[in-house]
Amino acid sequence: MNDAVWIDGSWRRGSGDVFQNYCPATGDVAWEGASATAGDVHDAVESARRAFHGWSRMPQSERTAILEAYADEIGKRTDAIAEAISKDMGKALWESRGEAATMKAKVAVSIAAQVERAGGKVQEAAFGSMHLTHRAHGVMAVYGPFNFPGHLPNGHIVPALLAGNTCVFKPSELGPSVAAIMADAFAAAGLPAGVLNIVQGGRETGGALLNADINGLLFTGSANTGVFFHKHFAGRPEVILALEMGGNNPLIIWDPADVDAAADIAAQSAFLTTGQRCSCARRVILPEGAFGDAVIEAIVARAKGLKIGAWDEDDIFMGPLVSEQAATNAVEFQMMLSKKGGQSLRRLKRMDRGGGFVTAGVIDVTNATDIPDEELFGPLMQIIRVPDFNSALERANATRYGLSGGLISDDDALWIQAHSEMRAGLLNRNRPTAGASGAMPFGGPGLSGNFRPGAYYAADYSAWPQASQVSQTATRMTAQGFPK
Ligand code: NAD
Repeated sequence: MNDAVWIDGSWRRGSGDVFQNYCPATGDVAWEGASATAGDVHDAVESARRAFHGWSRMPQSERTAILEAYADEIGKRTDAIAEAISKDMGKALWESRGEAATMKAKVAVSIAAQVERAGGKVQEAAFGSMHLTHRAHGVMAVYGPFNFPGHLPNGHIVPALLAGNTCVFKPSELGPSVAAIMADAFAAAGLPAGVLNIVQGGRETGGALLNADINGLLFTGSANTGVFFHKHFAGRPEVILALEMGGNNPLIIWDPADVDAAADIAAQSAFLTTGQRCSCARRVILPEGAFGDAVIEAIVARAKGLKIGAWDEDDIFMGPLVSEQAATNAVEFQMMLSKKGGQSLRRLKRMDRGGGFVTAGVIDVTNATDIPDEELFGPLMQIIRVPDFNSALERANATRYGLSGGLISDDDALWIQAHSEMRAGLLNRNRPTAGASGAMPFGGPGLSGNFRPGAYYAADYSAWPQASQVSQTATRMTAQGFPK
């Protein structure tokens, strides 16, 4: 049984019901503990509130040094982090190792971003000088998704702490284990007690945190949840919301010379992390005719050839979906597409080994009607055939989302057109749609977020700017019609 609540630097049991998280590959219990109740959440927020005064007033250099020490401590725990993540949500160990490495790297990137985007400036003025500084918001609630249960909350927590905020972190109930390792690393780095607090639990715990006395909510997760949070805080502009949500991402393939390269990029875009990345390509758009046929054949061959297995099996490309329920949902989504006229080219199927295991699927929806504009968070690629490039762009933009997109083409003119017309915050050429850089902002328009992109731009929502006009002494003011 794990302790579920980290408050003021020490662990305690949650006061709520016991919940388990099961490894989707083996069905074993990966994490078990009593969830945090509204009372626990209240205590965590109070602890963060008490710690805010000292932490936000600490010199920047000292906060930065503690975060740098945290990066070192994360580096020492890479294997433990990777194993915890893989056991919790099933992704291949090579991917979880990459996630752990990104958590460490996040610190240096966030320090650079903070200096560049939320630093200070002083300018001379006729009356004296003008000063730009940035101030922390206060207590930030951080909600993480299951697919990157370490990296994504870490990507909110590190910049928020650097800027002087304190945090209460509610990990995903499908990826709870990594939080204790993060807490351990922060404690070893010398983070003062109460600056970061953790409350484990599901939606009830998340709901309690929504209703607590917080100054900001930093969220990465589904559009449904993000919209719900946005409504919850309607009329409360004083609470900063950074919402990173999903996508229904298009990838256009238009006559590149190398069919195999195009198929590689498309298949990796769609099937990486078993399709459980917000930036995965969901809709692949191709020209009618022989070239498009050849690319589709090559994509289907890749879908068939993917090595699928448990996180610790050798050479696997992808693990199971996060749960049996997720596997059922994926199969049902595919059935729905078929009923609407989709032609299956390679079926996404539950595998004999049970759990969340599914094969990768490809379905041609060119002639289907009324396809919902929804993100299926799994390895199912929809194919759309079009007569010309303008139709490809039109289909690509036919979504309420705007997270990622791409063009695979050797033609510079098509890229220039796509770059100016495709509506996606992450828009790549001849590169997978998934696998973004922390040195760039991450987010997109539409239902994919609320225009508060994360990654390099997380510095922007972690602090508010303060502009000051400074005159050394008070001097008399003059103005037309103003008494002398
Ligand atoms: P989710 O929205 O179901 O859950 C995210 C977090 O919100 C969890 O901690 C969960 O407990 C909490 N939560 C959910 N409903 C809640 C409620 N009603 N009240 C309070 N708390 C609630 O998301 P998920 O399934 O864990 O993650 C997958 C989703 O995240 C996908 O849609 C994916 O596209 C998206 N995602 C987005 C990004 C991005 O940066 N844009 C990155 C990764 C994942």
